[in-house]
Amino acid sequence: MPATVNDLRGLHDLHRRAKAIRDRLESGPKTLAARQRGLEKRRQALEEAREALKHRKADVHRQEMQVQSQRTRVDDLRVKLNAVKKNEEYKAIMSEIAMINNTIAHQEDAILELMQGVETSAAELAAQEAEAARFAGEVEALRVDVETKAEGQRAQLKELEGAIAESESVVPEEDRERYRRTVRGQGDDAFAGVDSHTRACDGCNQVITIQAVSELMNAEHLVYCKTCGRIMYLVED
Ligand SMILES: [Zn+2]
Repeated sequence: MPATVNDLRGLHDLHRRAKAIRDRLESGPKTLAARQRGLEKRRQALEEAREALKHRKADVHRQEMQVQSQRTRVDDLRVKLNAVKKNEEYKAIMSEIAMINNTIAHQEDAILELMQGVETSAAELAAQEAEAARFAGEVEALRVDVETKAEGQRAQLKELEGAIAESESVVPEEDRERYRRTVRGQGDDAFAGVDSHTRACDGCNQVITIQAVSELMNAEHLVYCKTCGRIMYLVED
């Protein structure tokens, strides 16, 4: 439980801690969302690869069917050959058979090449699937981690906000309205320490007047940096 503080420096520190937790609460889900988009892209790529493989396989099948039908045609021609009487007719059929066989040979070469392509694609797809599964596991682990941490962070933030509210008593009452407005807009950046020796505002590095330093020492009301507008407090080394 963060303790209630009794000076502006402590109040600034509480605001800083709250800011750090808010940042973490924001960045976790952002990282997760980015990974989830990445996973979605991989899944789409997988789907495309699966489709492409299906088409390659269908192509092989189609060409095999063509070869099959050409073989049937050759068988028919051979039957016909037994029945021909004329020499010219015999020659014509023989040359057609030779032509078809030639086509078949070419097509078989092409099919072999296609089948090698199918094999390569299938191996690539399997590797891609394994990689996507591994990545999905990582994303899921991250999701659980982000959600688990967020629970603790929200609880911490609530405690800090409670401590901040209680510590507001260090702000003189008539200044509280303006203080609240300033921190609402700027959060932890609403404050700046001032080195008591160099008199430099650590928000903007400008040196403040001796008058302002003595106002800070009196601490009767909030003192704002004339250059950057931050609520100042003195820091002793
Ligand atoms: Zn300043």
